[in-house]
Amino acid sequence: MKPTNRTPRVIIIGGGFGGLEAAKRLKNNPVNVTLIDRKNHHTFQPLLYQVATAVLSPGQIASPIRRILRKAKNVEVLLGEVTGLDLENKKVVLQDEETVAFDYLIVAAGARHSYFGHDDWEDDAPGLKTVEDALEIRRRVLLAFELAEREAIQTGKHDPLNFVVIGGGATGVELAGAIAGIAKQALAKDFKAIDTREAKVTLFEGSDRVLGTFDDRLSDHAKRDLEELGVNVRLNSFVTDIRPGEVKVGDEWIDASVVLWATGVAASPVGKMLGAETDKAGRVLVEDDLTLKNTADVFVIGDMAHVEEENGELVPGVAPAAIQMARSAVANILRDLKNENRLPFKYEDKGSMATIGRNKAIFEFGRFKMSGFFAWLAWLVVHIITLIGFRNRLLVLTEWVWAYFTREHTARLITGDAEELQDALRFLSVHHGRGEKPEPRSTSNAESQED
Ligand SMILES: Cc1cc2nc3c(=O)[nH]c(=O)nc-3n(C[C@H](O)[C@H](O)[C@H](O)COP(=O)(O)OP(=O)(O)OC[C@H]3O[C@@H](n4cnc5c(N)ncnc54)[C@H](O)[C@@H]3O)c2cc1C
Repeated sequence: MKPTNRTPRVIIIGGGFGGLEAAKRLKNNPVNVTLIDRKNHHTFQPLLYQVATAVLSPGQIASPIRRILRKAKNVEVLLGEVTGLDLENKKVVLQDEETVAFDYLIVAAGARHSYFGHDDWEDDAPGLKTVEDALEIRRRVLLAFELAEREAIQTGKHDPLNFVVIGGGATGVELAGAIAGIAKQALAKDFKAIDTREAKVTLFEGSDRVLGTFDDRLSDHAKRDLEELGVNVRLNSFVTDIRPGEVKVGDEWIDASVVLWATGVAASPVGKMLGAETDKAGRVLVEDDLTLKNTADVFVIGDMAHVEEENGELVPGVAPAAIQMARSAVANILRDLKNENRLPFKYEDKGSMATIGRNKAIFEFGRFKMSGFFAWLAWLVVHIITLIGFRNRLLVLTEWVWAYFTREHTARLITGDAEELQDALRFLSVHHGRGEKPEPRSTSNAESQED
């Protein structure tokens, strides 16, 4: 864009890791910024599984975007869903047909799980992406124990509790390890008619190892850690069908009280609105400076962008990559304003880590590899440091120290009004093979299908 006397307007779509970093970097620069998000909060996704497994509460890992950006005088925040893009007239279209004009556009609308063409599985096997998803998962997991207790009190026995997690990436491993942990420890003393320690957790992974992006030895270590926690890890196992209370693996149908989906990536549909070329996962193919082909004023960053490193490998869909892309896009916008040449984006790998459970994690940085207690400690430190907001850091740290010494999970609330709870109990009854399947509920599931 050629410099003009008018202050240019930058629109950012998405207040996740990429969009928020872009807004922060544009603070106090000669641009007017509008950040649009359909949620009023930024979610720290790496800790969502701890909300789903009742360690943390939503407010401890999510913060209002408006509050995070309150000191950025040149940044305004709009709560709204982007439903269209008019790149020719440089306008973003919101759900209510209102339009917002831009000089520069930074698109950072993220991604969510792909059900590989079986979107109908989502009702029975929710994924984990938003706070609402985490609450729905928490509700299903805790209700499964409640239903078993109720049944045991009424009949003296109960159907086996089988938790199934599909996908052996970081989220699947974290969920499986944490559910095994609460069944074995946090809930064991509170239930009187059932022995929660008998609950089974099975993790299905299609490839021949869990945490497949890590070194072989580390993923073997993670598998052993999971098994030590009581998780049944089934590798080379593709789930081919899901129906209420059951998953099909190969030709085998397996009973499941709760099924959780933790695999596949589908970039936000906002990518399609750009009319640009995308890869199979819907990620937008971008130029070296992260702009759309032939559209120098539109940047696509984070999980939505298909960016290859020099060695041809895809830049991973992780928070540091989204943050680095945001910094690169902003730096190039500011270079434009100073009439300087743009620089290409270069990804800097900061290493990867994953936690499996209490005292168990793996960490890899180039040739440096670590596992066990110190990797777990490193995981805790990194997550506390990168969590947004001093208050949240303090709250999460306090919660973790409490949970470590007491083995208690304090956020064990089953939320919803009485009618919703009845509905959920009926839903779980179906999962145990009793009763009619109720109408799908309209909470997080409806929302997540349009993500
Ligand atoms: C459960 C889970 C655990 C993870 N763990 C880790 C981890 O441990 N380490 C790590 O580095 N990465 C982790 N990731 C990945 C990391 O969170 C993502 O790579 C990162 O969030 C990508 O940032 P982003 O800005 O591209 O998208 P996001 O952070 O997803 O933000 C997208 C934003 O766009 C908004 N949005 C979407 N569509 C619209 C629309 N139409 N209109 C308006 N707003 C819209 C959304 O509300 C959201 O706020 C995890 C992801 C998940 C789901």
